[in-house]
Amino acid sequence: MPKTAQIFQTPKGFHDILPQDQKYWERLRKVVRTLAAEYGFKRIDSPIAEDSGLFSKTLGLSSDIVEKQTFTFKTKGGDSLTLRPEGTAGVMRAYIEHGLSVMPQPLKLFYFGPMFRYEQPQSGRYRQFYQFGFEVIGESDPVIDAQLIKVFYNIYSELGIKGLTVQINSIGCKVCRPGYRSLLKDYYRNRVKKLCSDCRRRFKENPLRLLDCKDEKCQLFKSQAPHTVDHLCKECHDHFKSVLEFLDELELPYNLNPFLVRGLDYYTKTVFEIWPDSAQTQVAALGAGGRFDDFIEVLGGKSTPAMGAAGGVERTVNLMKVQEIKVPSAGIRPKIFLIQLGDRAKKKSLVLFEEFRKAGLAPAEAFSKQSIKAQLRIADKIGTQISLILGQKEVMDGNIILREMSSGVQEIIPLEKILNEVKKRLKK
Ligand code: ATP
Ligand code: MG
Repeated sequence: MPKTAQIFQTPKGFHDILPQDQKYWERLRKVVRTLAAEYGFKRIDSPIAEDSGLFSKTLGLSSDIVEKQTFTFKTKGGDSLTLRPEGTAGVMRAYIEHGLSVMPQPLKLFYFGPMFRYEQPQSGRYRQFYQFGFEVIGESDPVIDAQLIKVFYNIYSELGIKGLTVQINSIGCKVCRPGYRSLLKDYYRNRVKKLCSDCRRRFKENPLRLLDCKDEKCQLFKSQAPHTVDHLCKECHDHFKSVLEFLDELELPYNLNPFLVRGLDYYTKTVFEIWPDSAQTQVAALGAGGRFDDFIEVLGGKSTPAMGAAGGVERTVNLMKVQEIKVPSAGIRPKIFLIQLGDRAKKKSLVLFEEFRKAGLAPAEAFSKQSIKAQLRIADKIGTQISLILGQKEVMDGNIILREMSSGVQEIIPLEKILNEVKKRLKK
């Protein structure tokens, strides 16, 4: 290596997903796909970059995300683009752009892909991370809220994750929230000086998020602050009551959490988070969501209610490992191994491999190995049921040796019959 060679590493907050971890990712993708299909959600993929204005408009300029967490850049043409920090804004932009409101409503969509936030990396917190998300657009009925929470709960329980809690709250709507907000400000007004610096800013820009503060010195003030649920308008109150009744009907356990407000500005009414057993892992939510009935109108679409949620993939995968959840390994498990000895056999084996693969029986092989011993050792290790051995003599005679690995019994079979013979034996 030249002396000046630079060793590159992943940028801060970015990470590789190595082959040994893929089985967890694949399992999660499969569970998400299956549940999505069962509940009637169709997949949507939006681009990872959007017009920067999309996020500043919808997430609220004073939200943590827009304020300090976006990757924003200018294109050579002078446009300002932002790597998406979350999935909802892009999906709703697509809903409006492609006139998806003409499709039968509620429209149920789901996505799975990378998000980008300029955060301080720590356990369970990255700058590029994956989310799966579900959105139900065009329906305000509280049954939607309850069923979506159930979908999320099911994803984690289907994965075999134990010790889940659902936290739920209602943060009202544009009718009742302003009143609550000024009540909250009144409560905090003569306590502001004692708050952390983030909270002093929140007091001015986004008082609801005072309830979300994790700083030690703000906890006491928080605990005596007025609760959103005590100040809901009739519509929001009835809506929340129905959501809870539906959850009771589904026998889905939940905790009412008066401090749950969510980091994003666009939520209305129901908000929820799903938490793992805090003793076991990083203390952070696995997934979160809520209703956002004003969102589409803010984006210039026709007023359309919607409900959605997103789950973090890395945190879930991490928990699957901590809880030692067994998952099948990704990829196919070959039942046959193809062994070759000598040049002509190697050539013939290449072609034979293709025939078997086309028949849906892709064998394992070690074409670059020369000795039969080395190849048998690999076959043993993989645990294939049958090895097919092709030497110079066999190629000349148009035969191949079939070896049953468990017994070591070998038979000579004509090459043209080998595929059917293998199929017959695998069936047994
Ligand atoms: P947090 O409280 O951890 O900051 P958040 O409120 O920012 O979460 P959402 O925007 O609701 O989270 O995103 C939904 C889920 O995405 C989270 O529950 C979490 O599992 C995951 N998530 C959010 N930010 C990150 C990140 N930086 N790295 C990894 N996962 C993340
Ligand atoms: Mg966050």
